[in-house]
Amino acid sequence: VTTLYVCGPMSGFDQLNEPAFRAAARHVTERGQLAVVPHDLKPAEHEGPCPRSHTSQVTGDHGVACYLRVDLAHILLYCDGLYVLRGWETSVGARVEVQVAAACGIPLEFQP
Ligand SMILES: [Zn+2]
Repeated sequence: VTTLYVCGPMSGFDQLNEPAFRAAARHVTERGQLAVVPHDLKPAEHEGPCPRSHTSQVTGDHGVACYLRVDLAHILLYCDGLYVLRGWETSVGARVEVQVAAACGIPLEFQP
């Protein structure tokens, strides 16, 4: 079974854009594939303050880097492809995920 990671913009949206991610995940599972939604992944655990990254943006108790580390690891280790939501270009994290997937030969499917 193919597992697709749903990738898209989160910060700046109500509920971190979770409804759009869930709708995409439903679409993917209705096709008989599995979907991973980043909202279900726990941020990386660490001692002390969050690692700094390109942005000081914080979501909940963690900085962006703590989420991105886990998201990228999950994509590389457990996913066969990315399902990329509309508007991904506006998100630094989504752009990084798309670039990493492309560089690693992980197929991209763009939401029509
Ligand atoms: Zn952190």
